Amino acid sequence: MKRVYNFSAGPAVLPEEVLKIAADEMLCYGDSGMSVMEMSHRSKVFDDIINAAEADLRKLMNIPNNYKVLFLQGGATTQFSMVPMNLMKQGVVDFIHTGAWSEKAIEEASRYGTVHVIASSEDNDFTCIPDLTNLTISEDADYVHMVQNNTIYGTRFTSLPNTLGKVLVSDMSSNILSEPFKVEDFGIIFAGAQKNIGPAGTTIVIIREDLITKDVLKGTPLMLQYHIHASKKSMYNTPPTYGIYICGLVFKHLLANGGVEEMYKKNLKKANLLYDYLDQSNLFKGTVNKEDRSLMNITFKTNSEDLNKKFIAEAKNHDLVNLKGHRSVGGMRASVYNAMPYDGVKALVEFMKQFESENV
Ligand code: PMP
Repeated sequence: MKRVYNFSAGPAVLPEEVLKIAADEMLCYGDSGMSVMEMSHRSKVFDDIINAAEADLRKLMNIPNNYKVLFLQGGATTQFSMVPMNLMKQGVVDFIHTGAWSEKAIEEASRYGTVHVIASSEDNDFTCIPDLTNLTISEDADYVHMVQNNTIYGTRFTSLPNTLGKVLVSDMSSNILSEPFKVEDFGIIFAGAQKNIGPAGTTIVIIREDLITKDVLKGTPLMLQYHIHASKKSMYNTPPTYGIYICGLVFKHLLANGGVEEMYKKNLKKANLLYDYLDQSNLFKGTVNKEDRSLMNITFKTNSEDLNKKFIAEAKNHDLVNLKGHRSVGGMRASVYNAMPYDGVKALVEFMKQFESENV
Protein backbone atom coordinates (compact mmCIF):
# COMPACT_ATOMS: atom_id res chain seq x y z
CA MET A 1 0.00 0.00 0.00
CA LYS A 2 1.31 3.39 -0.98
CA ARG A 3 -0.10 6.63 0.44
CA VAL A 4 0.52 9.88 -1.39
CA TYR A 5 0.75 13.46 -0.12
CA ASN A 6 -2.79 14.63 -0.75
CA PHE A 7 -3.14 18.42 -1.07
CA SER A 8 -6.88 18.29 -1.77
CA ALA A 9 -8.99 21.23 -0.57
CA GLY A 10 -11.61 18.84 0.74
CA PRO A 11 -12.48 16.12 1.40
CA ALA A 12 -8.89 16.12 2.54
CA VAL A 13 -6.09 14.29 4.28
CA LEU A 14 -6.88 12.84 7.72
CA PRO A 15 -4.36 11.83 10.40
CA GLU A 16 -3.01 8.40 9.55
CA GLU A 17 -3.23 7.35 13.20
CA VAL A 18 -6.95 8.07 13.13
CA LEU A 19 -7.48 6.04 9.97
CA LYS A 20 -5.63 3.12 11.55
CA ILE A 21 -7.80 3.21 14.68
CA ALA A 22 -10.90 3.36 12.48
CA ALA A 23 -9.59 0.40 10.47
CA ASP A 24 -8.95 -1.60 13.66
CA GLU A 25 -12.42 -0.81 14.94
CA MET A 26 -14.19 -1.27 11.61
CA LEU A 27 -15.65 -4.71 12.30
CA CYS A 28 -16.15 -4.41 16.03
CA TYR A 29 -16.21 -1.24 18.11
CA GLY A 30 -15.19 -1.96 21.70
CA ASP A 31 -17.22 -4.90 22.94
CA SER A 32 -20.33 -3.84 21.00
CA GLY A 33 -19.94 -6.70 18.52
CA MET A 34 -20.59 -4.38 15.57
CA SER A 35 -19.19 -1.53 13.51
CA VAL A 36 -20.05 2.06 14.53
CA MET A 37 -21.76 2.21 11.12
CA GLU A 38 -24.16 -0.51 12.16
CA MET A 39 -25.22 0.68 15.59
CA SER A 40 -28.36 2.57 16.58
CA HIS A 41 -27.89 6.26 17.18
CA ARG A 42 -30.11 5.75 20.24
CA SER A 43 -27.79 3.14 21.77
CA LYS A 44 -25.75 3.81 24.90
CA VAL A 45 -22.55 3.05 23.05
CA PHE A 46 -23.23 5.71 20.38
CA ASP A 47 -24.40 8.15 23.02
CA ASP A 48 -20.96 7.79 24.61
CA ILE A 49 -19.30 8.42 21.22
CA ILE A 50 -21.18 11.65 20.48
CA ASN A 51 -20.86 12.91 24.07
CA ALA A 52 -17.10 12.31 24.04
CA ALA A 53 -16.79 14.03 20.66
CA GLU A 54 -18.62 17.08 21.97
CA ALA A 55 -16.64 17.16 25.23
CA ASP A 56 -13.35 16.91 23.36
CA LEU A 57 -14.28 19.67 20.91
CA ARG A 58 -15.27 21.85 23.86
CA LYS A 59 -11.85 21.24 25.40
CA LEU A 60 -10.01 21.94 22.14
CA MET A 61 -11.80 25.23 21.47
CA ASN A 62 -12.52 26.28 25.08
CA ILE A 63 -16.19 26.49 24.20
CA PRO A 64 -18.07 28.31 26.99
CA ASN A 65 -21.09 26.69 28.65
CA ASN A 66 -23.53 29.12 27.08
CA TYR A 67 -22.76 27.74 23.61
CA LYS A 68 -24.28 24.60 22.13
CA VAL A 69 -22.38 22.26 19.85
CA LEU A 70 -24.48 20.68 17.10
CA PHE A 71 -23.53 17.87 14.74
CA LEU A 72 -25.69 18.41 11.66
CA GLN A 73 -25.89 17.43 7.99
CA GLY A 74 -26.23 19.30 4.73
CA GLY A 75 -22.71 20.70 4.65
CA ALA A 76 -21.67 24.25 5.36
CA THR A 77 -23.91 25.24 2.46
CA THR A 78 -27.03 24.40 4.45
CA GLN A 79 -25.87 26.92 7.05
CA PHE A 80 -26.09 29.60 4.36
CA SER A 81 -29.88 29.25 4.64
CA MET A 82 -30.20 28.03 8.23
CA VAL A 83 -28.44 31.10 9.64
CA PRO A 84 -30.77 33.68 8.03
CA MET A 85 -33.89 31.58 8.60
CA ASN A 86 -33.12 31.41 12.31
CA LEU A 87 -31.43 34.75 12.98
CA MET A 88 -33.28 37.20 10.74
CA LYS A 89 -35.70 39.19 12.86
CA GLN A 90 -35.40 42.59 11.22
CA GLY A 91 -34.53 41.15 7.82
CA VAL A 92 -31.10 42.71 7.33
CA VAL A 93 -27.67 41.10 7.14
CA ASP A 94 -24.25 42.68 6.73
CA PHE A 95 -21.72 40.71 4.71
CA ILE A 96 -17.98 40.89 4.31
CA HIS A 97 -17.52 39.60 0.80
CA THR A 98 -14.29 37.70 0.23
CA GLY A 99 -15.04 35.27 -2.56
CA ALA A 100 -17.10 32.38 -3.78
CA TRP A 101 -18.26 31.17 -0.35
CA SER A 102 -19.51 34.55 0.81
CA GLU A 103 -21.12 34.98 -2.60
CA LYS A 104 -23.10 31.78 -2.17
CA ALA A 105 -24.09 32.77 1.36
CA ILE A 106 -25.15 36.22 0.09
CA GLU A 107 -27.26 34.63 -2.62
CA GLU A 108 -29.02 32.50 -0.04
CA ALA A 109 -29.51 35.24 2.59
CA SER A 110 -30.91 37.54 -0.12
CA ARG A 111 -33.80 35.15 -0.53
CA TYR A 112 -35.00 35.95 2.99
CA GLY A 113 -34.07 39.58 3.52
CA THR A 114 -31.85 42.49 2.58
CA VAL A 115 -28.11 42.00 2.28
CA HIS A 116 -25.66 44.86 2.72
CA VAL A 117 -22.13 44.16 1.55
CA ILE A 118 -20.19 46.33 4.01
CA ALA A 119 -16.73 45.38 2.71
CA SER A 120 -15.56 43.50 -0.35
CA SER A 121 -12.33 42.46 -2.02
CA GLU A 122 -14.06 41.75 -5.32
CA ASP A 123 -12.30 44.67 -7.06
CA ASN A 124 -9.01 42.95 -6.22
CA ASP A 125 -10.19 39.58 -7.53
CA PHE A 126 -10.43 38.45 -3.90
CA THR A 127 -6.63 38.35 -3.53
CA CYS A 128 -6.82 40.18 -0.19
CA ILE A 129 -9.01 40.73 2.84
CA PRO A 130 -10.86 44.04 2.57
CA ASP A 131 -10.03 46.94 4.86
CA LEU A 132 -11.96 46.46 8.09
CA THR A 133 -11.53 49.95 9.52
CA ASN A 134 -14.60 52.17 9.65
CA LEU A 135 -17.08 49.53 8.59
CA THR A 136 -20.61 50.83 8.23
CA ILE A 137 -22.55 48.34 10.28
CA SER A 138 -26.26 48.56 9.50
CA GLU A 139 -28.27 49.73 12.48
CA ASP A 140 -30.90 47.08 11.91
CA ALA A 141 -28.51 44.24 10.98
CA ASP A 142 -29.44 40.94 12.57
CA TYR A 143 -25.87 39.71 12.20
CA VAL A 144 -22.63 40.14 10.29
CA HIS A 145 -21.41 37.22 8.15
CA MET A 146 -17.75 36.51 7.36
CA VAL A 147 -15.75 33.61 5.91
CA GLN A 148 -12.73 33.18 8.17
CA ASN A 149 -10.55 31.45 5.59
CA ASN A 150 -11.17 31.59 1.87
CA THR A 151 -10.52 28.11 0.57
CA ILE A 152 -10.51 29.00 -3.12
CA TYR A 153 -8.47 32.22 -3.12
CA GLY A 154 -6.14 31.40 -0.21
CA THR A 155 -6.82 34.35 2.08
CA ARG A 156 -7.66 34.51 5.78
CA PHE A 157 -8.66 37.14 8.30
CA THR A 158 -5.98 37.95 10.85
CA SER A 159 -8.28 40.24 12.82
CA LEU A 160 -12.01 40.43 13.37
CA PRO A 161 -14.36 43.17 12.20
CA ASN A 162 -15.74 45.50 14.83
CA THR A 163 -19.44 44.71 14.51
CA LEU A 164 -20.51 47.33 17.06
CA GLY A 165 -22.10 44.63 19.16
CA LYS A 166 -23.91 42.87 16.32
CA VAL A 167 -23.73 39.09 16.27
CA LEU A 168 -20.78 37.80 14.24
CA VAL A 169 -21.31 34.62 12.22
CA SER A 170 -18.21 32.93 10.88
CA ASP A 171 -17.85 30.23 8.26
CA MET A 172 -14.76 28.38 9.50
CA SER A 173 -15.11 25.43 7.14
CA SER A 174 -11.50 25.52 6.01
CA ASN A 175 -9.66 26.64 9.12
CA ILE A 176 -11.50 25.51 12.24
CA LEU A 177 -9.02 24.02 14.77
CA SER A 178 -6.04 25.29 12.76
CA GLU A 179 -5.38 28.30 15.01
CA PRO A 180 -6.83 29.51 18.31
CA PHE A 181 -10.08 31.47 18.24
CA LYS A 182 -12.06 32.94 21.10
CA VAL A 183 -15.48 31.39 20.67
CA GLU A 184 -16.97 34.29 22.70
CA ASP A 185 -16.19 36.62 19.79
CA PHE A 186 -18.77 34.84 17.66
CA GLY A 187 -22.50 34.19 17.80
CA ILE A 188 -22.22 31.23 15.43
CA ILE A 189 -19.25 29.31 14.10
CA PHE A 190 -19.99 26.67 11.50
CA ALA A 191 -17.82 24.32 9.48
CA GLY A 192 -18.22 21.39 7.14
CA ALA A 193 -16.08 18.60 8.60
CA GLN A 194 -14.35 17.48 5.42
CA LYS A 195 -11.23 19.66 5.64
CA ASN A 196 -9.84 19.91 9.14
CA ILE A 197 -12.07 17.57 11.10
CA GLY A 198 -13.30 14.40 9.46
CA PRO A 199 -15.25 12.95 6.57
CA ALA A 200 -17.78 14.86 4.47
CA GLY A 201 -21.34 14.62 5.72
CA THR A 202 -21.01 16.15 9.18
CA THR A 203 -21.35 19.87 9.83
CA ILE A 204 -20.29 21.36 13.14
CA VAL A 205 -22.30 24.31 14.44
CA ILE A 206 -21.24 26.15 17.59
CA ILE A 207 -24.01 28.55 18.56
CA ARG A 208 -24.60 30.91 21.48
CA GLU A 209 -27.67 29.83 23.41
CA ASP A 210 -29.55 33.13 23.22
CA LEU A 211 -29.56 32.80 19.39
CA ILE A 212 -31.47 29.53 19.62
CA THR A 213 -35.12 30.52 19.62
CA LYS A 214 -38.45 29.32 18.27
CA ASP A 215 -38.89 32.71 16.62
CA VAL A 216 -37.72 31.72 13.14
CA LEU A 217 -38.83 32.78 9.67
CA LYS A 218 -42.30 31.54 8.82
CA GLY A 219 -42.17 28.25 6.96
CA THR A 220 -38.71 27.24 8.16
CA PRO A 221 -38.60 23.41 8.03
CA LEU A 222 -38.13 21.78 11.44
CA MET A 223 -34.90 20.23 10.13
CA LEU A 224 -33.52 23.74 9.62
CA GLN A 225 -34.32 25.07 13.09
CA TYR A 226 -31.49 25.27 15.60
CA HIS A 227 -33.81 24.91 18.59
CA ILE A 228 -35.07 21.57 17.30
CA HIS A 229 -31.54 20.19 16.96
CA ALA A 230 -30.35 21.75 20.21
CA SER A 231 -33.30 20.46 22.24
CA LYS A 232 -32.73 16.95 20.86
CA LYS A 233 -28.93 17.06 21.30
CA SER A 234 -28.36 16.61 17.52
CA MET A 235 -30.64 13.54 17.58
CA TYR A 236 -33.83 14.97 16.10
CA ASN A 237 -33.33 12.53 13.26
CA THR A 238 -30.55 10.05 12.54
CA PRO A 239 -27.30 12.00 12.73
CA PRO A 240 -24.27 11.17 10.54
CA THR A 241 -23.11 8.59 13.06
CA TYR A 242 -19.97 7.29 11.42
CA GLY A 243 -18.80 10.80 10.53
CA ILE A 244 -19.29 11.93 14.13
CA TYR A 245 -17.26 8.95 15.32
CA ILE A 246 -14.36 9.89 13.01
CA CYS A 247 -14.59 13.55 14.07
CA GLY A 248 -14.35 12.30 17.66
CA LEU A 249 -11.21 10.31 16.86
CA VAL A 250 -9.67 13.41 15.25
CA PHE A 251 -10.50 15.50 18.33
CA LYS A 252 -8.83 12.90 20.59
CA HIS A 253 -5.84 12.85 18.28
CA LEU A 254 -5.52 16.64 18.45
CA LEU A 255 -5.83 16.67 22.24
CA ALA A 256 -3.11 14.03 22.49
CA ASN A 257 -0.86 16.13 20.26
CA GLY A 258 -0.89 19.46 22.03
CA GLY A 259 -4.30 20.78 20.95
CA VAL A 260 -4.98 23.81 18.80
CA GLU A 261 -1.98 25.84 20.05
CA GLU A 262 0.39 23.13 18.87
CA MET A 263 -1.46 22.76 15.55
CA TYR A 264 -1.12 26.51 15.02
CA LYS A 265 2.66 26.35 15.57
CA LYS A 266 2.95 23.45 13.15
CA ASN A 267 0.70 25.14 10.61
CA LEU A 268 2.79 28.33 10.72
CA LYS A 269 5.93 26.29 10.20
CA LYS A 270 4.47 24.42 7.24
CA ALA A 271 3.00 27.53 5.61
CA ASN A 272 6.20 29.53 6.11
CA LEU A 273 8.25 26.82 4.47
CA LEU A 274 6.19 27.09 1.29
CA TYR A 275 5.66 30.88 1.35
CA ASP A 276 9.37 31.56 1.98
CA TYR A 277 10.23 29.47 -1.02
CA LEU A 278 7.58 31.20 -3.16
CA ASP A 279 8.90 34.64 -2.16
CA GLN A 280 12.34 33.96 -3.59
CA SER A 281 11.40 31.73 -6.53
CA ASN A 282 12.01 32.92 -10.09
CA LEU A 283 9.30 30.68 -11.41
CA PHE A 284 6.48 30.40 -8.86
CA LYS A 285 4.59 33.31 -7.35
CA GLY A 286 2.09 33.44 -4.50
CA THR A 287 -1.21 34.90 -5.67
CA VAL A 288 -2.47 36.78 -2.62
CA ASN A 289 -1.56 39.79 -0.53
CA LYS A 290 1.18 38.75 1.92
CA GLU A 291 -0.58 39.95 5.09
CA ASP A 292 -3.71 38.03 4.21
CA ARG A 293 -2.19 34.68 3.31
CA SER A 294 -4.03 31.57 4.39
CA LEU A 295 -2.25 28.98 6.49
CA MET A 296 -4.48 26.26 5.06
CA ASN A 297 -4.84 26.90 1.32
CA ILE A 298 -1.70 28.15 -0.34
CA THR A 299 -2.31 29.45 -3.85
CA PHE A 300 0.44 30.05 -6.41
CA LYS A 301 1.18 29.98 -10.12
CA THR A 302 3.90 30.21 -12.74
CA ASN A 303 3.75 32.78 -15.52
CA SER A 304 2.21 30.33 -17.99
CA GLU A 305 -0.85 28.09 -17.95
CA ASP A 306 1.13 25.43 -19.86
CA LEU A 307 3.81 25.34 -17.18
CA ASN A 308 1.13 25.18 -14.46
CA LYS A 309 -0.34 22.12 -16.17
CA LYS A 310 3.07 20.52 -16.60
CA PHE A 311 3.88 21.15 -12.93
CA ILE A 312 0.63 19.60 -11.71
CA ALA A 313 1.13 16.53 -13.92
CA GLU A 314 4.76 16.00 -12.92
CA ALA A 315 4.00 16.57 -9.23
CA LYS A 316 1.46 13.79 -9.46
CA ASN A 317 4.16 11.46 -10.72
CA HIS A 318 6.06 12.31 -7.52
CA ASP A 319 3.04 11.35 -5.36
CA LEU A 320 2.15 15.00 -4.70
CA VAL A 321 -1.50 15.05 -5.71
CA ASN A 322 -4.49 17.39 -5.99
CA LEU A 323 -2.44 20.56 -6.53
CA LYS A 324 -4.68 22.02 -9.21
CA GLY A 325 -6.17 25.39 -8.26
CA HIS A 326 -9.94 25.77 -8.09
CA ARG A 327 -11.48 25.81 -11.57
CA SER A 328 -12.57 29.45 -11.09
CA VAL A 329 -9.02 30.77 -10.48
CA GLY A 330 -6.61 28.31 -12.13
CA GLY A 331 -2.96 27.97 -11.12
CA MET A 332 -2.08 25.80 -8.15
CA ARG A 333 -3.35 25.37 -4.63
CA ALA A 334 -1.73 23.32 -1.89
CA SER A 335 -4.18 22.68 0.92
CA VAL A 336 -2.13 21.96 4.01
CA TYR A 337 -4.67 21.23 6.71
CA ASN A 338 -3.77 20.06 10.23
CA ALA A 339 -3.28 16.49 9.06
CA MET A 340 -0.76 17.36 6.32
CA PRO A 341 2.64 16.46 7.82
CA TYR A 342 5.58 18.88 7.63
CA ASP A 343 7.34 16.26 5.50
CA GLY A 344 4.58 16.57 2.89
CA VAL A 345 5.19 20.30 2.48
CA LYS A 346 8.95 19.67 2.49
CA ALA A 347 8.55 17.12 -0.32
CA LEU A 348 6.46 19.62 -2.27
CA VAL A 349 9.02 22.41 -1.89
CA GLU A 350 11.85 20.06 -2.87
CA PHE A 351 9.96 19.09 -5.99
CA MET A 352 9.19 22.74 -6.81
CA LYS A 353 12.90 23.56 -6.57
CA GLN A 354 13.72 20.74 -8.93
CA PHE A 355 10.97 21.80 -11.34
CA GLU A 356 12.18 25.38 -11.22
CA SER A 357 15.76 24.38 -12.03
CA GLU A 358 14.52 22.43 -15.05
CA ASN A 359 12.09 25.04 -16.36
CA VAL A 360 13.54 28.52 -15.87
N1 PMP B 1 -17.53 27.47 3.05
C1 PMP B 1 -16.23 27.29 2.77
C2 PMP B 1 -15.23 28.27 3.28
C3 PMP B 1 -15.81 26.19 2.02
O1 PMP B 1 -14.53 26.01 1.74
C4 PMP B 1 -16.78 25.26 1.58
C5 PMP B 1 -16.43 24.00 0.80
N2 PMP B 1 -15.30 24.00 0.09
C6 PMP B 1 -18.13 25.49 1.87
C7 PMP B 1 -18.46 26.60 2.62
C8 PMP B 1 -19.22 24.57 1.38
O2 PMP B 1 -19.17 23.44 2.16
P1 PMP B 1 -20.08 22.16 1.88
O3 PMP B 1 -19.61 21.55 0.61
O4 PMP B 1 -19.81 21.32 3.10
O5 PMP B 1 -21.48 22.61 1.81
